Amino acid sequence: MRILRTVADVRSAVRAARAEGRTVGLVPTMGAFHEGHLSLIRAARAGTDLVVVSLFVNPTQFGAGEDLTAYPRDEARDAELAAGAGADILFAPAVDEVYPHGFATSIHVSGITDVLCGATRGPGHFDGVATVVTKLLQIVAPDTAYFGQKDAQQVLVVRRVVRDLDIPVRIEACPIVREPDGLAMSSRNVYLDAGARARAAHINRALDAAEAAVAAGETDAAAVVAAARSVLDAAGIEPEYLELRSAGDLAPVDTVDDAALLAVAARVGAARLIDNRILEAHA
Ligand code: AMP
Repeated sequence: MRILRTVADVRSAVRAARAEGRTVGLVPTMGAFHEGHLSLIRAARAGTDLVVVSLFVNPTQFGAGEDLTAYPRDEARDAELAAGAGADILFAPAVDEVYPHGFATSIHVSGITDVLCGATRGPGHFDGVATVVTKLLQIVAPDTAYFGQKDAQQVLVVRRVVRDLDIPVRIEACPIVREPDGLAMSSRNVYLDAGARARAAHINRALDAAEAAVAAGETDAAAVVAAARSVLDAAGIEPEYLELRSAGDLAPVDTVDDAALLAVAARVGAARLIDNRILEAHA
């Protein structure tokens, strides 16, 4: 695996692979790798010939007062893990390679960014995500880009950018990878002390409770949300949001019939955690 720092070097590596008729996969990340990241790299390895993993803690998607400076960074460890999972290139640019002096462009997706994390983290978050992902797709020009369903709203934002801007790439959303107790893996889980770590597992249990309610025949959205809410309440977790929305466009839903997204964000100890579950009523 090669570590590349510049846009020009990535372009020439991709050009060489293309000249040999090889397909290209991209896995955008902010590093601090865990099994969730590695599952995306393995999916890219299985699906494409040249696997490019980007490692860039994107400053524009962090709001004021968020954890940009504290965000865990260990490039040497990440490089070893990425290579082990099958990456060919680790693209780890400096901030001024991605945002050179005078950078003035931002991609804004309207509508679906007004809710959930867009509402709680502010509109700048998804502008930062959309802008950096658009740049990575322009730089690497992959056949397929791999994202985790853990960030369900991010997947929708990326799909919308790709569709609206006619970017010729297939977006593959990969399943959420969890710890044995169900906690969704996240680079931010390192912020959890032992007590918070134990409580954090209740986020997934809340989603389980909602899923069980739907499986038992409940289709009323408020009742399904209440089933999840009671698990969070019992664990002393006050969510930033806990909402059931259409999985396709994040419109509010009153009943669960087609695919509905139950999405949750909560601060547990020192970490802000997100998780979600697609719920479907089976008639
Ligand atoms: P991040 O480094 O947190 O920006 O994440 C990079 C990619 O990994 C994103 O597409 C995330 O959705 C994905 N990802 C993060 N955590 C998980 C997880 N637990 N399971 C699956 N994918 C994940």
